[in-house]
Amino acid sequence: MGIVSINPATGSEIKTYEELDFKSVVTKIEEVQKSWEHWKTSSHENRSKLLQTMAGVLRKRQHELSVLMANEMGKPVTQGIGEIEKCAVCCEYYAANGAKYLADRPVDTEASKSYVSFQPLGVILAVMPWNFPFWQVFRFLAPALAAGNCGILKHASNVPGCALAIQSIVEESGFPKNVFVTLLIGSGQVSKIIEHPVVKAVTLTGSTNAGIKVATAASSVLKKTVLELGGSDAYVVLEDADLELAAEACVESRLINSGQSCIAGKRFVVVKKVLERFTELFLAKMSAKRMGDPLDESTDVGPQARQDLRDELHGQVIRSIEKGARCILGGQVPEGNNAFYPPTILTDVKPGMPGYDEELFGPVASIITAEDEADAVRIANDSIFGLGSGVFTQDIARGERIASVELQAGSSYVNHRVLSDPRLPFGGVKTSGYGRELSDFGIHEFVNIKTVYIK
Ligand code: NDP
Repeated sequence: MGIVSINPATGSEIKTYEELDFKSVVTKIEEVQKSWEHWKTSSHENRSKLLQTMAGVLRKRQHELSVLMANEMGKPVTQGIGEIEKCAVCCEYYAANGAKYLADRPVDTEASKSYVSFQPLGVILAVMPWNFPFWQVFRFLAPALAAGNCGILKHASNVPGCALAIQSIVEESGFPKNVFVTLLIGSGQVSKIIEHPVVKAVTLTGSTNAGIKVATAASSVLKKTVLELGGSDAYVVLEDADLELAAEACVESRLINSGQSCIAGKRFVVVKKVLERFTELFLAKMSAKRMGDPLDESTDVGPQARQDLRDELHGQVIRSIEKGARCILGGQVPEGNNAFYPPTILTDVKPGMPGYDEELFGPVASIITAEDEADAVRIANDSIFGLGSGVFTQDIARGERIASVELQAGSSYVNHRVLSDPRLPFGGVKTSGYGRELSDFGIHEFVNIKTVYIK
């Protein structure tokens, strides 16, 4: 069976790749294991040097890679350029900090010497999604390599070209052969790979459903997982917010990557007093965004990554409208054999509607009315997800209180949209997953935190 990449802006096939059979998969992962036997004892200096080189390779290939993303999953090229830069920064971050984070930590006990050391685990399987085809992989890969682990990648089936490009970037950067390999396979082979003794742990970014499947397979053979799953981030807009700034940040957040980001603001919970003005500003800013060819530098919103995902999103919009939501922008499927969906706003969104209860993975905003601050926080937390969250208010102490203790999420931002940043930990609570990526927390997920005690 082939793995087919289809251009979502035109519906045309780019290329069909042959899927690796399981025998070939095993051969490859055993080669990775052999590489790990050497890589695990490589010096931090050497790993840092290679990560620095990789940052340079990424920047050198920035244009080519952003065009590849535009063609395979529809990301506007200007955003693709930004994504590759972020990957380069992440490599530099772990080049600069890897050794410090992994240095032995002495602990005072009755021993003559006791300390904590951080040892690589071995071969880590990464199951990754299509929405940020490079960033999602590099934020796993840079710390994994810095820690002396090796990686095998099962990328989403609609971005095989990106998956192969990542392997070529690692090779071009001069890393030893097979410290990282891409496996062109469908999701049906993942649980058998997890069972293979060479694989020591799994990281997955994707839907909650895929996360449950992978975590179930991994737990049955007692292997650790880190899961970064979906989100339905709520942004609370209070009566004392700078509404111009709030509307700008909310629109930017909702439309990043044509609305297909786990940490996009999806539910905008606005207190009654400022609902009308916020909605006006939000509508004006959403309406000004240009949907079009992802290769055109003036495009803000490209196509959705696949037609089936676009159709699923439209179904959620229609079901919300049938249950009483009002659609004040968009909501129509454009003509043609493509996966476009326009910026869309639903108002009067209430519990029981997909716009309230589910993740809308596309450029569709749900505006929800709250009575006051307490009601807004209650609504924001009334979700099965807990990835990111935000609050807009000009009273910074009030914003900080809500962000730090009241919003149930892995990150809470005040007067700013949620971002991922190599310096800050990233991950969720509730069905948004567990474990953390990035920062010093991320690099410690896949190491043996080992106690050494000398009498
Ligand atoms: P999936 O979660 O299905 O795909 C993500 C990755 O998991 C892909 O590599 C996929 O492989 C793999 N996968 C899927 N099912 C399994 C399984 N049973 N066992 C092992 N691996 C599996 O995302 P979709 O592409 O279907 O998107 C659907 C929804 O997922 C979106 O609408 C959104 O809600 C959410 N999503 C969240 C993302 C995030 O950043 N948190 C990113 C992408 C999607 P394959 O492609 O071969 O199926």
